[in-house]
Amino acid sequence: MTDVKSTDIQVSTFENAMRQFDRAAGLLKINPGLLNIIKRPRRSIILELPMMMDDGTYRLFKGYRVQHSIVRGPGKGGIRYHPDVNLDEVQALAAWMTFKCAVVGIPFGGAKGGIVCDPRKMSKGELERLTRRYTAELMDVIGPDQDVPAPDVNTDSQIMAWVMDTYSMHQRRTETAVVTGKPVAMGGSLGRREATGRGVQFCVRAMARHLGQSLPGLRIAVQGFGNVGSVAAELLARDGCKIVAVCDVYGAIANKSGLDIPALLKHTATTGSVKDFPGSESIDTKSILTTDCDVLIPAALENQITEENAALIRARVVAEGANGPTTPEADVILAEKGIYVIPDILCNAGGVTVSYFEWVQDRMGYFWEEEEVNQRLELIMNRSFGEVLALSTAHDTTLRVAAFMLAIQRVAEVIQLRGLYA
Ligand code: NAD
Repeated sequence: MTDVKSTDIQVSTFENAMRQFDRAAGLLKINPGLLNIIKRPRRSIILELPMMMDDGTYRLFKGYRVQHSIVRGPGKGGIRYHPDVNLDEVQALAAWMTFKCAVVGIPFGGAKGGIVCDPRKMSKGELERLTRRYTAELMDVIGPDQDVPAPDVNTDSQIMAWVMDTYSMHQRRTETAVVTGKPVAMGGSLGRREATGRGVQFCVRAMARHLGQSLPGLRIAVQGFGNVGSVAAELLARDGCKIVAVCDVYGAIANKSGLDIPALLKHTATTGSVKDFPGSESIDTKSILTTDCDVLIPAALENQITEENAALIRARVVAEGANGPTTPEADVILAEKGIYVIPDILCNAGGVTVSYFEWVQDRMGYFWEEEEVNQRLELIMNRSFGEVLALSTAHDTTLRVAAFMLAIQRVAEVIQLRGLYA
């Protein structure tokens, strides 16, 4: 990509996503020209965001919004704040959103956004000004019927509140449905904060049922202890699983008898990290992936399980909480080792599913009880898991290939029904 130095990224994440696509597309009888239309992002926006920092200095931040597909409905996808954000990554994440929404059958296309910044080094005021400027620059392309952002790495409900407020001020009316993952007090959905981790829990449960394993005592390692990883760990610990190792960007900890997750959540809330948690041993952050466990949950960033470490993975199941944590080369190695990978576009789809519920509730102006949200989520996750599993059995292929097959078919069908306007 033009704005990314070749030394910045060893692999193109978008190319990796397209290699996953191609593997599945090869098993489908779909016109190659149509497949090419499905693959390419519909619109990629690059922004230069000027800001005055607290100390009075001027700075320019690079921002992106990519709408990969708006064929099945408005674009949908999170906003990431991270120093490594780049166009290639945002395009890949937007593409995965298209296929994720199709796998779980919700009426959205795929989009994603990001700003190249290090939120850890910014004040709350600076983050608010950057978020508002980014939103204002995107006024013409986002909206409840166009493109609906949500949280991703380093963005949370407060940032979504600023997006919603900025958009509403420009529109001269309160427009809650422009963004999901908002605080519950201002149109957010109960259960949204936990939704991605809960979806991971439902997938791990479904896989355990398929493999005839019981949850109590199942040993789990989690890479990343943010929104997705910490909730997945908390809910699976409640199911009786033993969370034997977790890590975040600052460090990694382990305990063979199982970490006390409620106590660890308190520890991270006060210290900001899993590091130095009493009753745990400190381990090397990289070794989290090769921990001796039954289920590995990567819940940090993409390109973590690679051809260098895939052969060392000891888990029987990899449940992808993160987007794109496994490279295509690693996928082949994991499949050869007989490791089941619950692919990201299925495993972490709980977040976008409850985002859809939030959008529906905002538009109705009527809000559901948390129990209803969770029950509807469970229904969709179990149905989707079943459909992907059935397709993978029928075609004797991996769950990832099957999930992509299902998604590509659904997107292709809508393009053919709508026809191409010319
Ligand atoms: P988050 O910012 O809440 O948490 C990220 C966690 O990963 C943090 O604990 C961070 O310290 C850790 N981390 C970052 N870099 C790391 C590294 N190099 N090694 C180890 N740990 C590292 O983000 P999140 O919302 O939990 O998102 C995590 C992943 O899940 C991303 O891939 C995201 O795209 C995906 N995802 C998120 C949602 C959602 O609803 N938030 C939905 C679907 C998918």
